[in-house]
Amino acid sequence: MMKEIDTSIFKAYDIRGIAGENLSEEIMEGIGKAYGTFVKRNGGKIIVTGRDIRHSSLSFHQALNKGLLSTGCDVWDMGLTTTPSMYFSCHKYPVDAGVVVTASHNPSSHNGLKMYFEKMSLPTKDIMRVRDILLSGEFEEGEGIYKNHPVVTQDHIQAIVDKINLDRPLKLVADLSGAMGIVIVPELIKKIGCEVEIINGEVDPDYKAHQPDPIVLENYPPLINKIKEVKADMGFMYDGDADRIGFVDNQGQIWLGDKIQMLLARDILPKNPGSKVIVELKNSEAVVEEVLRLGGEPIFWKTGHTLIEEKLHEENAILAAEMSCHYYIADQWYKFDDAMYAMARVIQIVANSGQSFAELMGELPNYPATPEYRVTVPEEKKLEIVEEVVNYAKEKCDRYLDIDGIRGYIHNGWFLVRSSNTQPMISVRAEAKTSDDLEKVKDFIKSKLDGIDGVNLDWSKQHS
Ligand SMILES: [Zn+2]
Repeated sequence: MMKEIDTSIFKAYDIRGIAGENLSEEIMEGIGKAYGTFVKRNGGKIIVTGRDIRHSSLSFHQALNKGLLSTGCDVWDMGLTTTPSMYFSCHKYPVDAGVVVTASHNPSSHNGLKMYFEKMSLPTKDIMRVRDILLSGEFEEGEGIYKNHPVVTQDHIQAIVDKINLDRPLKLVADLSGAMGIVIVPELIKKIGCEVEIINGEVDPDYKAHQPDPIVLENYPPLINKIKEVKADMGFMYDGDADRIGFVDNQGQIWLGDKIQMLLARDILPKNPGSKVIVELKNSEAVVEEVLRLGGEPIFWKTGHTLIEEKLHEENAILAAEMSCHYYIADQWYKFDDAMYAMARVIQIVANSGQSFAELMGELPNYPATPEYRVTVPEEKKLEIVEEVVNYAKEKCDRYLDIDGIRGYIHNGWFLVRSSNTQPMISVRAEAKTSDDLEKVKDFIKSKLDGIDGVNLDWSKQHS
């Protein structure tokens, strides 16, 4: 048995570590045994598995499969795959669980696992159960059956193509970041009838062009330039495992989470009156106002991938989105975050509108807002810091939501302060009806935070 396991690799939403440091083939095989044991003890047997293009992913994937098979679970091996295609296969085929070897947008030396069971991402408590099974060393035993199952990408493409009808073809540009979008995005775009220019379409496990992350705005200039050069209708930025997507309009403006959620709500809610929409706490107040105007029911919920996904299932909502560019569209589709389906729906909205993407986005309500700021604080003090802000805001604000940190309403606007679930950071965002009000909201929260020992909020630095 393994001598030492760094249990910090078991995160709130997935498993993440660094290859050669706290992740090895031996540990991957061990996690395979633990996850297979978890699946079997919960009545499952067949597990689809896949991997991204990182240097360590192939050997980690093989080790994982070996561990899973030793528990008596069957393995259907998808090979190279995006995370959404793994989710898709869990809905499409008679399988019980899925797992993909990936560290999403993280640097190439990192790796990890995303797990899916009973048609949902594995919640934190179950990730910790897998950890505990691994630590116990008590695994189910058996001889599982292995089979290749590489058809998923084609089936995923076809299922999306079957849902999409365009009045006119669009000219598109996709920056695939040298990562997993390569296996599906170009073909999907062509099959729905559009033309596409690809940037960073050669597999590059070192991500030399830029980190594969759509929320990092510095990644966008080549994409924006290409859109302008070829006079494209829109462009896309995919992350490492292609479960997140950023959008750029025909004038080169970048559009992320909450704005795209509003565009999708305008398309979906009129056809599904009264439906529920999950709104992440970080999102613009305009999303809530827009959902209400369209006759939907907005429900604010906590930041965090599996938290938003669980809430979507619990409320049977039709739409959810995160600022980090995860989109869940349960309209004619499954309840998972599928960047490919989100892309296709946005293409359809623009193609069938008679307007340009920029014109459509320009019609959405837009309040002055800051992006999300991430402020480094001592890990052991982050909860205390947030609690101090929560108590202060409850006293001073006109109203507030305290389901995760605090969203406090003041000066015709609001601010959010919450602690990161994954890093020694607090995140801060502000929005108001006018620029003057936004400055007041920003001053209010900065003066409070800077008064706390160990905290310094610098509005000129998004990450500090
Ligand atoms: Zn990702």
